[in-house]
Amino acid sequence: MYRSHTCGELRLADNQKEVTLSGWVQTIRKFGSISFVDLRDRYGITQLLFSENHHPQLEANPLGREFVLQVKGIVNERSNKNPQLPTGDIEIAVSSFSILNKSAVPPFTIQDDTDGGDDLRMKYRYLDLRRNAVKKNLEIRYSVNRSARNYLHENNFMDIETPFLIKSTPEGARDFVVPSRMNAGQFYALPQSPQTFKQLLMVSGYDRYYQIVKCFRDEDLRADRQPEFTQIDCEMSFVEQEDILQMFEGLVKRIFKDVKNIDYTEIVQRMTWEEAMWNYGNDKPDIRFNMQVCNLKFPAHTFPTKESLSALIEGVAFPVFDNAETVVAIAVPGCSEYSRKQTDELTEWVKRPQIGMKGLAFIKCNADGSFKSSMDKFYSEEKLKAMAAAAGAKPGDLVLLLAGAEERTRKAISDLRLYLAQTLGLRKNDEFKLLWVIDFPLFEYDEEGNRWVARHHPFTSPKPDQIATMINNNPAIENAAEYLKHPYASIKANAYDMVLNGNEIGGGSIRIFQRELQEKMFAALGMDAEEQQHKFGFLLGAFEYGAPPHGGIAFGFDRLCALLGGSEGIRDFIAFPKNNSGRDVMLDAPSTIDDKQFEELQIKLNLK
Ligand code: ASP
Repeated sequence: MYRSHTCGELRLADNQKEVTLSGWVQTIRKFGSISFVDLRDRYGITQLLFSENHHPQLEANPLGREFVLQVKGIVNERSNKNPQLPTGDIEIAVSSFSILNKSAVPPFTIQDDTDGGDDLRMKYRYLDLRRNAVKKNLEIRYSVNRSARNYLHENNFMDIETPFLIKSTPEGARDFVVPSRMNAGQFYALPQSPQTFKQLLMVSGYDRYYQIVKCFRDEDLRADRQPEFTQIDCEMSFVEQEDILQMFEGLVKRIFKDVKNIDYTEIVQRMTWEEAMWNYGNDKPDIRFNMQVCNLKFPAHTFPTKESLSALIEGVAFPVFDNAETVVAIAVPGCSEYSRKQTDELTEWVKRPQIGMKGLAFIKCNADGSFKSSMDKFYSEEKLKAMAAAAGAKPGDLVLLLAGAEERTRKAISDLRLYLAQTLGLRKNDEFKLLWVIDFPLFEYDEEGNRWVARHHPFTSPKPDQIATMINNNPAIENAAEYLKHPYASIKANAYDMVLNGNEIGGGSIRIFQRELQEKMFAALGMDAEEQQHKFGFLLGAFEYGAPPHGGIAFGFDRLCALLGGSEGIRDFIAFPKNNSGRDVMLDAPSTIDDKQFEELQIKLNLK
């Protein structure tokens, strides 16, 4: 028997018991002829007391960090207790031990605050995983997994595996491809998601499906993306959007309860995509804080139903605003006393290429009711007051204004809002705010191809009352500059995203389930009948055999775990992640393959 207890288990109540423990040497502290050793396993750390008088072999063969030991001994009350450790009241007086395995000196310290840099930790990920900080993250991951499974099982969902070697799926990224030896010259694609399979399962009658499943997307890895990642992928039959929203906010609330012991009793707020863009400049707003965008000027066709406030800024010759397509503002609470240096820093911040603004205007709403602005020369105090009021500013607030082209300016104000909230400590890791964003546009304009692409994916159904707009209008875009005026630009989808603290954690849609409408959708995306048949003939065929109405959603499992763990980085919540260039530095993958493998695959490299 290697152990009677784990290293996290023994307490004062076990005093004088004879026990056997196995684990790794975390630290060794020598005091004359006695040594204290912290022995570590997955469950914790227990202090061992070695006396060289009893163990003369220690002198010739000293213990080292990360050695694997088995020790037998007696549990004793410690004279010097350590309240930080659950086992801190006791220690083991070692009577005998054996070294089960030695260890080379690890390349970094196996501690919470390790001295190992990122690359080193990834190269020796198996050592990094011994660190408590990483272990805790994997424990969170496992409890999210268990909680989701329990909830879905209790709600009659069935976990059904779907294949990895498939044909291209259209989630909008590039496919990873796998050559087939048995079908030389032909390739499988790895699934970007199990989308078409879960829809086929609905046709087969498995009305509630789920899978915690790997997805593969060959994307340029922007910060914090992984080429393979995990989704909680779900699909349901005989449902409307409302059924899905209810079921899956239930799932997330259950995960909050099981993993964080949070009773999320609040009603999950809902916001249309248009409201999100209008009020936050962003389709995944962080609603832990307010600071909503005030729209002083915008092109009429972007928000046809919204009223312009442009009268507030017009009438004086201020070319920055007069020449801009869009002018937006936010009121930053309590910052009216920002110094010149601070406003200059903010100006530099918005001028960085990632944000791309030409400048930043401000109005300081002084506590005494007066106003001071970078635009004093142009606007009367009355006008400044009106602008500040429109932005919702109170005395003591700082109003920041941006002007420029619509899309860029809207994104910039959204980024600025998040940046300031971060600076002001309004984005707290332990506060959780869920939000449904609904009514997304069905199509997105692809500038390069001057055509429409599916904003979610091509299986998403239009809002029922807008199907006619899709069917009765020609998708061709005559005037690229005015694409927003095309009837397709305003068609909304039965699609929804779940947002947590400004992060999209899940997204899905009600699907098209009639062959005819699906064909029309493919055609709207520029696919002729032949291409439709080649790519999705199986799905169109299945829709002829009694496809039920259905819809679903997929959650980004890695991100959900990271957010619950108080981090925005997903890498440390994945046991063996890739780096930002998509490499596994531990395996040194991707790598070349043997000549023999190329031969068998009948593939010749033609590297450029
Ligand atoms: N397959 C979709 C995705 O990966 C999710 C869904 O529509 O259910 O984004």
